[in-house]
Amino acid sequence: MKKFIAANFKMHEPDLRAWAKFKPTSGAEVVMFPSFLHIPLFSGRKDTILGAQDVFWENLRSGGAYTGEVSAQMLKNFGVKYALIGHSERRALGDTNEIVGKKLKTALASGLKVILCVGEGEDVRKKGITSAKNFVRAQMKSALFGVKKKFLKDIIVAYEPIWAIGTGRTDKPADAIAMADFIRSLLSVSPTGGPVRVIYGGSVTAKNAKKFISQKGIDGALVGGASLDPKEFAKIISSVK
Ligand code: PEP
Repeated sequence: MKKFIAANFKMHEPDLRAWAKFKPTSGAEVVMFPSFLHIPLFSGRKDTILGAQDVFWENLRSGGAYTGEVSAQMLKNFGVKYALIGHSERRALGDTNEIVGKKLKTALASGLKVILCVGEGEDVRKKGITSAKNFVRAQMKSALFGVKKKFLKDIIVAYEPIWAIGTGRTDKPADAIAMADFIRSLLSVSPTGGPVRVIYGGSVTAKNAKKFISQKGIDGALVGGASLDPKEFAKIISSVK
């Protein structure tokens, strides 16, 4: 299965001139998550897949009275294939486990694929890896409650320990692999026969990407800060063999 490398621009303006020269050079599946505003500017690229950083939990085909929200259908109209759901920065802004679950089910039922983000905070990890696993299990259980088995193939789980996001402190690759294996064990096997993909996120850069991406148990990376520079992001992609 191809490795999966995603760029999360968060609330940053992409340098469009620099991105015009960007050429991913590996067989990885590369997905870009610009802000909603910048989605049309990345639409139509042949070398990358388009994602959205969030999606609303109602998908009314003809729209609805939800000021400030963007539906799955609207995203699909602009060529979006993936939605990022449950990112810790959205959870910090109020997305509860219940909201994450609603967004996940709506996105999947609307035909989007999903990157479901899970991961523990530093307070939890300090208690040990078992506490971290329990925390992640609860997040997974709540997000996936009621999700039909046929949709498991459309979910990629991003294990992102919160203390590693934007801090320059990565998880130990061995711990990230243990978590990825644990997450796969919770999901068992997708209906297509393949295991659900689990990627790692948290301060991945061109310097350390190989340590994570080259591992058999890690199916790719979700990259925040280091994806803002297309040259750096291209280096991360090229570390996929
Ligand atoms: C992220 O935003 O999901 C992320 C992992 O950020 P960073 O790479 O900057 O830690």
